[in-house]
Amino acid sequence: MKINEENFWNEFNEIDSWDDWDDFKKKFFDENRLAIKSDDEWERSLNRGDEFINGLIWHAACCGYKDLHAYFLLDKSRALAFKKLEPEAFANNATKPELYGQICYHCEIWTRSHQPKACPVCNGELLQLPLNEK
Ligand SMILES: [Zn+2]
Repeated sequence: MKINEENFWNEFNEIDSWDDWDDFKKKFFDENRLAIKSDDEWERSLNRGDEFINGLIWHAACCGYKDLHAYFLLDKSRALAFKKLEPEAFANNATKPELYGQICYHCEIWTRSHQPKACPVCNGELLQLPLNEK
């Protein structure tokens, strides 16, 4: 089922606690509503290897959902919830850019570089990617 983004951001703005976030997340990202990628799809995504684009190395990533835009919305809203609910921790993390790369969930590629301001393939928004998870 496709996410209605107007509803999505309106409801996001009502979030005041991590409990609210959990309810929000369940409502919009319940696994029964959003199809998860199969093992084959995971492998195909991750086996693409690295690519050189505009002089930077971009690594293959794999999003868990078949709906890549839904995955983007999940990660973007989670980051914004963290910023809203834990502003001090957020500010602290912002002083350590070396801990983050950038990812395009629509193209499933990520880079350690902070230079690009948009995805070089689709021109879409890049989100921060914590590197300790890679
Ligand atoms: Zn892209």
